[in-house]
Amino acid sequence: MMERTLGIIKPDGVGRDIIGTVLERIEKAGLKIVALKMIRMSKVQAKGFYKVHEGRPFYESVTDFMSSGPCVVMILEGDDAIAAYRGLMGATNYEEAAEGTIRRDFATDIEKNVVHGSDSPETARFEMDYFFSALEAAPA
Ligand code: GDP
Repeated sequence: MMERTLGIIKPDGVGRDIIGTVLERIEKAGLKIVALKMIRMSKVQAKGFYKVHEGRPFYESVTDFMSSGPCVVMILEGDDAIAAYRGLMGATNYEEAAEGTIRRDFATDIEKNVVHGSDSPETARFEMDYFFSALEAAPA
């Protein structure tokens, strides 16, 4: 089933100059990058993005991290894109992530784990709308 998902290269990935590496893995996996831009979130914007985690012990820390530098945000399209991209990313905790995944290869701790990907069609809709206008996300 053709699907869209929201991907982010987090501030640690951008800071470590692995934008190209991550994008290459995405393209080689057969996912189409249909929208892409670099943004810098404020603390308030990062809190809005991770609102589902409000109240969790890591909420303050992860929103500080996500607003600490620029991120690359993108919309990816492909067959079962949500699961396909999460498979490419690997588990949240890089120590548990499968060999060859982005997080296993590049993450440095459970928080600084290089990439984000939506985890359901509902969050994908919310997250794509959070960063992209209807014009930017329009079908080609
Ligand atoms: P994801 O969907 O795999 O990104 O994982 P979650 O939605 O559970 O968590 C969102 C993000 O919060 C993760 O990607 C990490 O950057 C961060 N995070 C998750 N769990 C922890 C934790 O236990 N400690 C800290 N410091 N950060 C965490």
